[in-house]
Amino acid sequence: MPEVTECRHDWRRDEIVALFNTPFMDLMFQAQSVHRQHFNPNEVQVSTLCSIKTGACPEDCAYCPQSARYDTGLEKEQLMKVQAVVDEAKAAKEAGATRFCMGAAWRSPKNRDMPYVTDMVRQVKALGLETCMTLGMLKDEQAQELADAGLDYYNHNLDTSPEYYGEIITTRTYQDRLETLDRVRKSGMKICAGGIVGMGENDTDRAGLLQQLANLPQHPESVPINMLVRVAGTPLAENEDLDPFDFIRTIAVARILMPKSYVRLSAGREDMNDEMQAMAFLAGANSIFYGEKLLTTPNPKANKDMQLFERLNLQPEKFETENDDEAEQANIEHAIREQENKAYFYDATQTAVGQ
Ligand code: SF4
Repeated sequence: MPEVTECRHDWRRDEIVALFNTPFMDLMFQAQSVHRQHFNPNEVQVSTLCSIKTGACPEDCAYCPQSARYDTGLEKEQLMKVQAVVDEAKAAKEAGATRFCMGAAWRSPKNRDMPYVTDMVRQVKALGLETCMTLGMLKDEQAQELADAGLDYYNHNLDTSPEYYGEIITTRTYQDRLETLDRVRKSGMKICAGGIVGMGENDTDRAGLLQQLANLPQHPESVPINMLVRVAGTPLAENEDLDPFDFIRTIAVARILMPKSYVRLSAGREDMNDEMQAMAFLAGANSIFYGEKLLTTPNPKANKDMQLFERLNLQPEKFETENDDEAEQANIEHAIREQENKAYFYDATQTAVGQ
């Protein structure tokens, strides 16, 4: 038996850079070995993402079509009605999702929004789904209100390294982001935090992003690794192609640094073929978003995802916290297989990946 990997919180940048420089095959073997110590390598957790408020965001994240500063042709929308969100969640559950993530393009929620979003959390949770929200920066009391409503996860990404960050966002600081993560943790919610690869950063920046995440007092339970989707009208629209192996390396290093976290294959999956996605799973990714759109950008259609699951003999992961009912799980798996014949679109027309 290989030695069980510990969760370290004292990673040095040079150690992480050395992992990035490890020969690819050795890195993949190491990442898969770590992965198997903590997870079933043939299971992938499935989440669905719903944009509850789209566009007109005052922030200037250079990759984001929802920023009001860029002309991306995105139509802004009001906060969705609670019932409409619940209906989307029901459909997502029927299609096999176990976690429902709700995103709003805000700098931070206003106090007047809180009763609506907490109501969404309560009602979606009552369906038997795990809940996640991404609403921007939070104050202490807002984090507590969400936790009290039963929100399981709060997403707030660090996006990139502290050094490269200023090239991407100027309207909020890295420290602002760390403080929101701290508030989320103190409120008792789980953290979903990751970043984006392909924004012009180098390996040292990728190592810097992962160092920040891995050296948090507690690892984020969920680590989304996004591949930049170049959206016309945003400052990063003409960025150079990312070498797909650099993306896979980032997944593998994230897996090694945060052995017990769910590493999520997030935005950019539309641009990955099945072989690349399989390689990402081999590198330790074990969570995906599925549905037609990932906030504002295309996401592989649910049925295509399920065909890939079948080809790789992957199983959607059982609800990890409260569903021990095998019949219920069988229903979910059945519903997922049904997607091959019944196109399901949750129509989350727009929000963002970098809250
Ligand atoms: S990533 Fe989030 S905060 Fe940044 S512009 Fe987009 S919606 Fe606003």
